[in-house]
Amino acid sequence: MVSLSNHEKNFNMDSSKIFRKEVLDAPAYHLDEIPGTKLNQNESPWDIPVDLKANVIETLLKTPWNRYPLGDLVILKKKLAKMLGVWPDNIAISNGSNVLIQASLLATSIGKTIQIPDPTFSVYEIQAKLLANKVVRVPLNSENFSLDIGLFINEMKKHKPKLVFIPNPMAPTANLTDLEGLRQIIESAPCPVIIDEAYYPFSGVTVLEWTKNYDHLGVLRTFSKAYALGGLRLGYLVAESEMIRQIEKCLLPFCVSKITIATALTILDHPDYMHQYVTTLCQERTRVWDNLQKLDGIKTYPTATNFILFEVSDAQQTFKNLSAKGVIVRVVNDGRRLTQALRVTIGSPDENDRFLKALSEVI
Ligand code: PMP
Repeated sequence: MVSLSNHEKNFNMDSSKIFRKEVLDAPAYHLDEIPGTKLNQNESPWDIPVDLKANVIETLLKTPWNRYPLGDLVILKKKLAKMLGVWPDNIAISNGSNVLIQASLLATSIGKTIQIPDPTFSVYEIQAKLLANKVVRVPLNSENFSLDIGLFINEMKKHKPKLVFIPNPMAPTANLTDLEGLRQIIESAPCPVIIDEAYYPFSGVTVLEWTKNYDHLGVLRTFSKAYALGGLRLGYLVAESEMIRQIEKCLLPFCVSKITIATALTILDHPDYMHQYVTTLCQERTRVWDNLQKLDGIKTYPTATNFILFEVSDAQQTFKNLSAKGVIVRVVNDGRRLTQALRVTIGSPDENDRFLKALSEVI
């Protein structure tokens, strides 16, 4: 039997009368699965070690799958709290840090105003606009993408946002913001400030300790990058307990599965693999960066993350030529400052060699 795809069905539905304007206006998240050396999503090039996977499967075999993960998350919170030097009620855990971005918005700002740097991680703006928020974007310094602290503070005074997101290191520009500047922003903010430390393991710079002094500061982390767990979805937010209590109300019950929790509990007992991955990756980052410097026609920006942003004369064409050679990177185009930029994730030594060879051939 042949079934019709959605496109072939004859819908009579008038979307504009059914769906909210903010939803109709929103871009659909879409990333093609292109075969090749995958350096386009800032994932870990290495999977978690197979003996750790075996441990998790053994645990899962002894776990009832018919029961909701009631106490499991509490155990994970306690373990994370111990590792981070905070209390369990300072932590909210979710199926990916993206979900905590959404929950933070739900808790603070619907139909109001939020503030972010520009360019930055797209999810802040997309989710904010879905909730009918106005988004104040504060341009980064166009030379080196540093955050203009004075301007950011002035914009907060002017627009009185209900929530601020700042990634540190920045994404997609990969640079770190000076901590004193961040402190000034946090101290001047009229609202919660979320510092997104998705790439913290590659920078070693964190403001997590500050959550003990500022009750409106949240630090967001993910297991998707350094811990190599992008496929299982796990992220967490650290903040003062009242902020956590309110934001947690906006998470769906049981949104983290027993599989993910069991994996996290196992890998947190064996963090060596992660340290090894980060050490190798940072060495590779230096090697790739040095090699990019040697190529003519490329402007490479400093990085404190597991990716490098660089500019070429024609980003779309370079992307296509690299793809044709089996190397998949990401085009970064914010339509303003970045129009001819590419972002490459640092891969394994082999993958990086393939990237460098392909790039030197197409440039
Ligand atoms: N914040 C930043 C800055 C990111 O780059 C990403 C992943 N691309 C995320 C958050 C989301 O990570 P997760 O996989 O935990 O949802």
